[in-house]
Amino acid sequence: APILSVQTVSKHYGKLCAVNQVSFQLGSGFHALLGPNGAGKSTLFQLLTGLFAPDQGEIHLNGISIRHELPQALAQMGVVFQQPALDLDLSVQANLDFYGRLHGMNKANIRTRSHAALTQLEIAEVSPTPCRHLSGGNRRKVELARALLTEPKLLLMDEATVGLDPASRATLLSYVQRLCREQGLSVLWATHLIDEAEAADQVLVMHKGKLLAHAPPAALIAQTQ
Ligand code: ADP
Ligand code: ADP
Repeated sequence: APILSVQTVSKHYGKLCAVNQVSFQLGSGFHALLGPNGAGKSTLFQLLTGLFAPDQGEIHLNGISIRHELPQALAQMGVVFQQPALDLDLSVQANLDFYGRLHGMNKANIRTRSHAALTQLEIAEVSPTPCRHLSGGNRRKVELARALLTEPKLLLMDEATVGLDPASRATLLSYVQRLCREQGLSVLWATHLIDEAEAADQVLVMHKGKLLAHAPPAALIAQTQ
């Protein structure tokens, strides 16, 4: 059974069809959602996270309906948004505590999972550091650690490397690849950068609201030659 199932989903803003009859299914692995600005990637993410309901179509996460059982679906989802969403005045651990409590985790579990996630990302030592004092790359890693706190089945990352230097971009990408390999996570990674899509197991190409292709990167490159 797929982890994520999107069936003929559409979303309009007035007359503009931002997501146009999009269907796909994802298993575990690293999936890039590639498309230029305005392709509909952010709108699709807003539908996946239940921020808007689609005008048409259904979305299921592990068989759970986003439309009818949103809290249960969100419990299996981790999200890293384009806009940083850490409280910069609080320590890394305090940010993780807050997120864990929001998700109904107890303190012991939050601390165990925080330590595991920060260790996985090789930043265990920043736990007491105020987020304000972290580099951009480490802030992104903390956001990723936070998204992983609840052990999601699906991780959504919306242009997560925007504003990072090339080395930090590559590091973040390789951590996410490893998580997919080692934990059977399904990642949907929105980007407008071809080189990031080339690192994925599968690429979903979006343009003007439509899903144009869903294939391994090598197959897409072969098509254009
Ligand atoms: P992407 O994330 O790929 O850049 P978006 O989903 O942000 O694409 O945008 C898809 C299209 O929908 C664009 O033409 C954009 O201008 C339009 N759009 C996005 N959000 C809104 C909104 N809230 N109201 C009206 N139009 C919107
Ligand atoms: P992205 O391309 O990543 O979606 P944008 O700068 O296009 O980033 O959009 C940022 C925010 O503004 C999003 O929440 C999007 O829904 C909204 N937005 C985008 N285009 C429009 C638009 N034409 N009218 C109103 N809101 C928009």
